[in-house]
Amino acid sequence: MTIRKIIRMGNPVLREKARAVTEEEILDQTFSELISDMVDTLHDSGGIGLAAPQVGESIQIVVVEIPGGETRYGFIPPLPLTTLINPIISITEAKEAGYWEGCLSIPGLRGFVERPQGIHIEGLGPEGNKISLQFDGFLATVLQHELDHLDGKLYIDNIKSPELLVYEEEYLEFIAIQNE
Ligand code: ZN
Repeated sequence: MTIRKIIRMGNPVLREKARAVTEEEILDQTFSELISDMVDTLHDSGGIGLAAPQVGESIQIVVVEIPGGETRYGFIPPLPLTTLINPIISITEAKEAGYWEGCLSIPGLRGFVERPQGIHIEGLGPEGNKISLQFDGFLATVLQHELDHLDGKLYIDNIKSPELLVYEEEYLEFIAIQNE
């Protein structure tokens, strides 16, 4: 088990466009080690998604795992641990919904971001197998947040007004309560 250091906003790697993973790389031992390190790091952080650039590797990998259940956003379907390599996204539902997003690379803050609520992703799984998945609602938001990391984007880029960026503690004190 290896926990990698999560880099924070300000580190230029987070603003780079991540390169695609090659077939040769996927077959390499160090590649599967990187993925298992990313999963360990995600679990250790308590987060729901992690992109390779967040551990300083500018390549196209994301891991996502969502416990799901009843939340202030309503019922969220659980998503088992999913690894996506070289993902290509298309919007299937342009209608947007907003959520207060957080990011392991921007600790302590939350920002309200509106995103399309239906997406389709084509890509590869951890063994190089082809993957084709549909995500709707909150899951579509989570996946767009993670895939943005591969484009060198952060959620704060999508916040429409500075008032919609707050500290986590104040979010819980003043905003979350109103939505319960
Ligand atoms: Zn993030």
